[in-house]
Amino acid sequence: MLVKIEHAKTPNESKASYRAGCKKVMSNISEKRICQNCRGEFIIEPDDFGFYEKIGVPPPTFCPECRFQRRLMWRNERTFYKRTCDLCKKNIISTYDKNQSFPVYCQKCWWSDKWNPYEYGIDFDFSRPFFEQFKELLSKVPMLNMQNDDGVGSVNSEYAQDFAFSKNCYLTSVGWYCDNVMYSYYTCYDRDVVDSFFINNSEKCYECFESDRLFDSKYSHLCFDSVNLNFCYDMRNCQNCFMCTNLRGQNYYIRNEPYTREAYFEELKKENLDKKDKIDKHRIELKEMMLKCPNRFVHIIKSLNCTGDMLINSKMSLDSFWVSNLENCRYLMLMDGAKNSYDCNNSGNPELCYESVTPDNSFNNLFTIFCWKCSYVFYSNNCHSSNNLFGCIGLKHGEYSIFNKRYTKEEYTELRKKIIEHMKKTGEWGEFFPSIISPYSYNESFNLDFFFLNRNEAIDKGFSWKEDKERNYIITLHKEEIPNSIDNVDENILNEVIECQHSGNCEHKCSKAFKIIERELKFYKKMNIPIPTLCPNCRYYERLKQTNPLKLWHRKCMKPGCNNEFETSYAPDRPEIVYCEKCYQQEVY
Ligand SMILES: [Zn+2]
Ligand SMILES: [Zn+2]
Ligand SMILES: [Zn+2]
Ligand SMILES: [Zn+2]
Ligand SMILES: [Zn+2]
Repeated sequence: MLVKIEHAKTPNESKASYRAGCKKVMSNISEKRICQNCRGEFIIEPDDFGFYEKIGVPPPTFCPECRFQRRLMWRNERTFYKRTCDLCKKNIISTYDKNQSFPVYCQKCWWSDKWNPYEYGIDFDFSRPFFEQFKELLSKVPMLNMQNDDGVGSVNSEYAQDFAFSKNCYLTSVGWYCDNVMYSYYTCYDRDVVDSFFINNSEKCYECFESDRLFDSKYSHLCFDSVNLNFCYDMRNCQNCFMCTNLRGQNYYIRNEPYTREAYFEELKKENLDKKDKIDKHRIELKEMMLKCPNRFVHIIKSLNCTGDMLINSKMSLDSFWVSNLENCRYLMLMDGAKNSYDCNNSGNPELCYESVTPDNSFNNLFTIFCWKCSYVFYSNNCHSSNNLFGCIGLKHGEYSIFNKRYTKEEYTELRKKIIEHMKKTGEWGEFFPSIISPYSYNESFNLDFFFLNRNEAIDKGFSWKEDKERNYIITLHKEEIPNSIDNVDENILNEVIECQHSGNCEHKCSKAFKIIERELKFYKKMNIPIPTLCPNCRYYERLKQTNPLKLWHRKCMKPGCNNEFETSYAPDRPEIVYCEKCYQQEVY
């Protein structure tokens, strides 16, 4: 029997002509390579060779997953330290602890003219490897306490990591153009959003994830273009629904049954969405419903010729996850808007970028970390609004610079060429920064979220590990005393040190205790939500656990009698029902 392999795209013929603008394809056959790191096999396709040729780098020697891992070592999303700004001495929080050898400046100081990054400039030494010298520069140049633009492009968002163009955001990571977003991860163009994950263009949302264009919704997953959802899963264009799955264009539904408007609100009242104990029961009920409903094999929304998962409004992009608005890209994660780019993560609007961490609004950044609004910047870290840099750290409006030394255009071009030749000999050219020179330990880095290793495993693999410091919080509100309803909470809660329900007995980097801030309390009151019982880290990891891994497996449609096969992010041993497009479409209504 003929087995139809289903892709969310129509494969091959169309992508070859579009991707990477690669007219001069060196080879028209795919090549199998062995990853230099994990020894696993990976494939480089003709289009990929075209891309590497276009940007002038050799094909990768690491497989896509090892490349991703290597970049993740340079991000710290949620391990923050109290310390002082090494310039103005004010108390700050930072992704870097006190033991780092480089100074750490608060945003106001770092972005100011009170220091000069060119003072740290060094001559390149052709008798030594590139990365060794880069590590030395890294140990001296002042770093930003948090990667954000507070006081420059953002307002009152000091405690937001990797955030830009936002206001009033707090303990939230990755996003831009947000207002009043707290305790969330990857939010773009949102307002009044708390405890959410990969949610864009939304307002008044709580505990929503992998969703887009939601308004006034709570505890919902994979919901799009909807209003007033509570405990819903996989919904589109719906309004006023509670405990529903797989609905399209419906209004006033409870447990997938229709109600009149009056009856809906009458019934909803009985569900006690303002009570903690009821919410816990609803969570369990939704989980049970999700195991009975069919899942589309992949979540690719409004996109053309794409592979990966959680891909929205994109075209001709492959192997990408948690992304929106991509064009001709491959191996991108957590991105909004990108063109002709490969191997980038956590970024917006890069073009022709490769192997870069957060090359926001940049053109032709190769091997960069947090270099925003740059062009032609290579092997650099934390440089902004700059062009033509190689091996630089901490420059603002820099140009034609190498290892923080300024050159003429001609000198720069010549020296850059010589360094690349040198790096070819040392085997460094074309490789991203080695994990070992990252200022973060494995368990501080973003790696922990996707490639979980315990202490011994990480050390065995050559990663550094940071021992947990004993936190001596004096808990003033024990977990069994947390009020069941928001009605029983007043301003006094702001003074309490609340015990996390997990009390550190989990693998979530549990902080054991947490506080509630004023804006947050206002949000809970306005939305009629009971206060949380888990610390922000535990809340985040509980949500992350409900998402699919950034990986695809080859599987068969589970609908009896259907033989369609596909690539899906649902691993074969998972309990969910996974259908091909055709069978899934027959089940949604
Ligand atoms: Zn590998
Ligand atoms: Zn300062
Ligand atoms: Zn916790
Ligand atoms: Zn926990
Ligand atoms: Zn099927």
